[in-house]
Amino acid sequence: MPCEAKPRFVVLYGSQKGQAQSIAEGVAEEAEGHGLVADLACLNQDDKYNLEKETAPVVFIVSTTGEGEPPDNAHHFVKRIRKKTLSADHYKHLSYALLALGDTNYADFCNCGKTIERRLQELGAKQFYASGYADDGTGLEVVIDPWLEGLWDAIKEAVSKMASDRTPHLKENAEDSAKEAPHSSAPDVQLNLLSITDHQQNCQSVKADSKSASAAASPSPSTASDARPAPPAGGPVFSSQSGGAANVSTSASETQGEVDAGVPRDALVASLTSSVPPLSESSLNVPALPSPFLDVSLHEVDTLEQIDGPPNKQALREVPISKAVQLTTGDSVKTALLLELDISSDPTVAYEPGDSFDAFCPNRPAEVDDLLRRLGLLKQKHHHVKVSLRKDTNKKGAQVPSYIPQDVSLQFLLTWCLEIRSVPKKAFLRALVEHTGDQGHRRRMQELCSKQGAADYNLYVRGPGLGLLELLTAFPSCSPPLSLLLEHLPKLQPRPYSAASSCLRHPGKLHFVFNVVEFPACSGRPAGSRGLCTGWLFDLINPGLVFPGKSESSVSPTPPKIHIRLRPNCTFRPPSDPSLPFIMVGPGTGVAPFIGFLQQREEEKRQKNPEAVFGETWLFFGCRHRDGDYLFREELEGFVSSGTLSHLKVCFSRDEGKDKESAQPRYVQHNLLLNSRHVADILLRQNGYIYVCGDAKNMAKDVNETLVEIIKAELQVDVLEAMKRLAGLREEKRYLQDIWG
Ligand code: FAD
Repeated sequence: MPCEAKPRFVVLYGSQKGQAQSIAEGVAEEAEGHGLVADLACLNQDDKYNLEKETAPVVFIVSTTGEGEPPDNAHHFVKRIRKKTLSADHYKHLSYALLALGDTNYADFCNCGKTIERRLQELGAKQFYASGYADDGTGLEVVIDPWLEGLWDAIKEAVSKMASDRTPHLKENAEDSAKEAPHSSAPDVQLNLLSITDHQQNCQSVKADSKSASAAASPSPSTASDARPAPPAGGPVFSSQSGGAANVSTSASETQGEVDAGVPRDALVASLTSSVPPLSESSLNVPALPSPFLDVSLHEVDTLEQIDGPPNKQALREVPISKAVQLTTGDSVKTALLLELDISSDPTVAYEPGDSFDAFCPNRPAEVDDLLRRLGLLKQKHHHVKVSLRKDTNKKGAQVPSYIPQDVSLQFLLTWCLEIRSVPKKAFLRALVEHTGDQGHRRRMQELCSKQGAADYNLYVRGPGLGLLELLTAFPSCSPPLSLLLEHLPKLQPRPYSAASSCLRHPGKLHFVFNVVEFPACSGRPAGSRGLCTGWLFDLINPGLVFPGKSESSVSPTPPKIHIRLRPNCTFRPPSDPSLPFIMVGPGTGVAPFIGFLQQREEEKRQKNPEAVFGETWLFFGCRHRDGDYLFREELEGFVSSGTLSHLKVCFSRDEGKDKESAQPRYVQHNLLLNSRHVADILLRQNGYIYVCGDAKNMAKDVNETLVEIIKAELQVDVLEAMKRLAGLREEKRYLQDIWG
């Protein structure tokens, strides 16, 4: 069939970090295999689509960022469709499906997707397929995979329904078939997507890898069968759970022999590199192979390039670290550090308490070298990289990623531009299979990206956060070309940190606080490692670190410098009316912005307005041990003495009370409950504020639930009503969060 004759649909995406974009691109790419043609565009490319006149089904794939905001490249679209002047039938002609990506650890889960959906419906658009709300907190693929599976039938059905609506003589038939169709959903019907399991499989189905391994280097002839693949040569293969037998390391062929020689099946344990039945014997549904789209070449150059800063560093500020203090004692589980940046030489770096800033960190030189060595490109690390679009690519909307600069060295590219530690997505794994020689490795990688192997992917790849280098080490017969890495590795993101100081107290200085992130060793990562940015900062300042009890000094005569960019936060600010009371909830390093708030208030009182009336301030802080990680203890107690902080409520989650029966509050939410009367009074009667900062995964959720409890009890209403009241506070910007995780 000629291309023009194929039914058409439109895919529009809004994406902050590239995830929604890559899903949208995947949909566009797979379209042809389903006998369809997709027009792909980013929501801000409104010259590429026209919803006002669109007669084909439209698929929206959008993520949410920050505090429920649209991604940068969807802002304009959301603003446009929110215009009150649009009539209720503005999109009457439109049929849409929507996949929203979000994270339930954050407020306003999938808010951008929900906003778009609400407006589309208010403007008369019809949903042709139930919306998917994928949660990064529990694993995006739990929703995305079944949603994508069902999408194709739904599109085809929508196409034929729209055609028949336009063609009166076909209409009757189409209506009949629509009634029977499982995917035709009325706009107000939403499938429980978590329970979609029985849709027609549209993924490429493979029994097992039948491709010859001969092209790639395989150390020993593989005897892997479809039914039970051989584990990788040389890697840990299986361990016996009984009889105290040690782990066995052997080659693929030997392993197969041993399994056959009588090791009971239930004694096998899965690992990153090997699986057990039923997965090892299962037919697999793997994602379609992503089309390659980049041409990459390396060119020798005469002069060596400096790689001492991020790309576009002219747009950033380079500031010295003037002080570094360890806030925790040596034996604490976590190491919390306070760094002071000297911003005095640059008047453009002006911040307010509540703001944060981005720190730009490089990948670790040793990891960059290891990766280059693994790719066989170490000797070419100073060569310049030229990247262009492949002429023959089938990838819809293919572009050279904007974060890949032209004409920089390979070393620079891998050091400053690409998140080489990012967890490879399933599409990347799928593509890596094509560059893997050993049959056992191929099969295991197929399993890890397959529908059937989703649990193993979560357990061995996503959960421990394994990056590409760790996978390449585990699967030594995998040798991807550089172009594949550039196609799949995302942009190296700067890390944001909250300001933990006030310029009024520390003119020309910016403080911030962080825990050095530690990743333990695991299957696939024999040695533990540190977080990228926090590990880098730790190494930068380590020799000059000031420990508790020691007198403070500057980091060194030539302090290290880092590149930063301010991220003003116009809402996370103390109330503009200082007489209003406010509550701060900030356990651990979440206390950072509140140190800034309190310094600012103290200085305002002292320097500007000694007579003014200031509202009550409450701080709920929590840590593990009073003597280990009670951050800013002296400063906080000083705020209490000076009257800047009216109430300081601190709890210790790991200190055993002298009397175990006394049930001390362990977490900030317990202390909130103990003070629920005051909390409710401030929020519901005194027009006060509550700020929550820190860990998004547990704390922010627990605090949110506790606030619902408090409101429910105080107002004697049901949970739903209490949630509404809390949502109201959020809308009035009196319940504010600055959370991360
Ligand atoms: P990364 O290497 O990026 O790892 C971070 C996370 O990725 C881990 O927590 C884990 O979930 C996952 N991960 C990555 N690799 C692995 C692995 N190998 N194994 C397991 N999991 C892995 N942090 C502060 O400490 N103080 C602040 O004031 C602060 N303010 C922030 C303000 C905002 C607005 C935001 C969005 C974040 C803030 N953060 C703050 C978080 C901070 O930006 C960083 O995310 C944090 O310091 C970790 O950075 P990293 O590069 O060291 O860790």
